[in-house]
Amino acid sequence: MDRYEKALEKMSEMSEEQLSTLIDMQKKRICICKDCPSYNQCMTENKEGLFCFLGKSSCDLDLIQCKCGECPVHTNFQMKYGSYCMEGSEEEQRSKEN
Ligand code: SF4
Ligand code: SF4
Repeated sequence: MDRYEKALEKMSEMSEEQLSTLIDMQKKRICICKDCPSYNQCMTENKEGLFCFLGKSSCDLDLIQCKCGECPVHTNFQMKYGSYCMEGSEEEQRSKEN
């Protein structure tokens, strides 16, 4: 089990309140999507982010570039994929491997 899978396991054990606090905090403090050229006004208005865990954006978007490779979350959780706002979460993209 790698660190991404361990994080998913921990998150599944949290209460809804704990999880939503954690997600809000990570979106604000760590996720660097807001600095990405693909991050658009719709995503800003919906306060979206952390797509690597939460999955695709609900907004229409043009993928210009992805900064996930430079994000500490990506490194810390041993993630392999990117463009999460368009392609889905790390978990979803891993599940397509098989
Ligand atoms: S890896 Fe990408 S989607 Fe995940 S927190 Fe970092 S910038 Fe946001
Ligand atoms: S997931 Fe990647 S492409 Fe999408 S907004 Fe975040 S950094 Fe940009």
